[in-house]
Amino acid sequence: MSAIVLKNREEIELMRESALIVSMTLGMLAGEIKPGISSLELDAKAEDFIRDHGAVPGFLGLYDFPNTLCMSPNSQVVHGIPNKNPLQEGDIISIDCGSLKNGFYGDHAYTFAVGEIDPKTEKLLRITKESLYKGIAEFKNGNRIGDLAFAIQNHAEAEGYGVVRELIGHGLGTEMHEGPEVPNYGKRGSGKKFLDGMVLAIEPMINRGTHRIKQLNDGWTILTADGLPSAHFEHDVALIDGKPELLSTFQYIYETLGIEGDEETPFRKEALIL
Ligand code: MG
Ligand code: MG
Repeated sequence: MSAIVLKNREEIELMRESALIVSMTLGMLAGEIKPGISSLELDAKAEDFIRDHGAVPGFLGLYDFPNTLCMSPNSQVVHGIPNKNPLQEGDIISIDCGSLKNGFYGDHAYTFAVGEIDPKTEKLLRITKESLYKGIAEFKNGNRIGDLAFAIQNHAEAEGYGVVRELIGHGLGTEMHEGPEVPNYGKRGSGKKFLDGMVLAIEPMINRGTHRIKQLNDGWTILTADGLPSAHFEHDVALIDGKPELLSTFQYIYETLGIEGDEETPFRKEALIL
């Protein structure tokens, strides 16, 4: 992973644009996800949407990834490749999306339910999303990466879930993956100190069973070793005046799905106007 690059206010505003394009793309997809549609069809819609908004897909061609979206259903953790298989009632699908605009990347993710899902999986989604916000709350002056990592791990492991070790969050900027590395497990008070101008992609990947993973021989797809479901939620967050500020938002998704959610409020200076 490359070096840590601190961003000034102007750069952070440009990054907000890139992040919001991803947020809007996920909001659009929320209305399209239903039994019968394939991840490849969703991928095409996302690519068109991103280009229509003056950006280019951030993942397409990156490390030779073949598509716009990483689409990881059920026991797939991350980096699933879109295909023609129709989504089924009761599936979950983690969608990770990147954009590139004005030279800066946006990169965030949400795990969606396809129709009705079983209560155990619903709880996995809720706890994983909660663990993301627990982590974001620790991204502040005086803290270190270990504080953020511990908060995520602690919240997920309290439910007996497995926290993926091999894949982690990262700094974000003119590169998709900049320093620092942001693991979802760790010790309080350890690791690099947070500094104003850091922009992180914070992204817990939490398994309902074991934390262990394996990889398909497509060279990309990561899945749980025990076949149980996995969830992935990711936000782009800047450290401004010592406090975490969200550049991305799930509000477009919530608006599409008719969900109320105010978890983002503490991490915004002003109300988000959609
Ligand atoms: Mg991502
Ligand atoms: Mg990421």
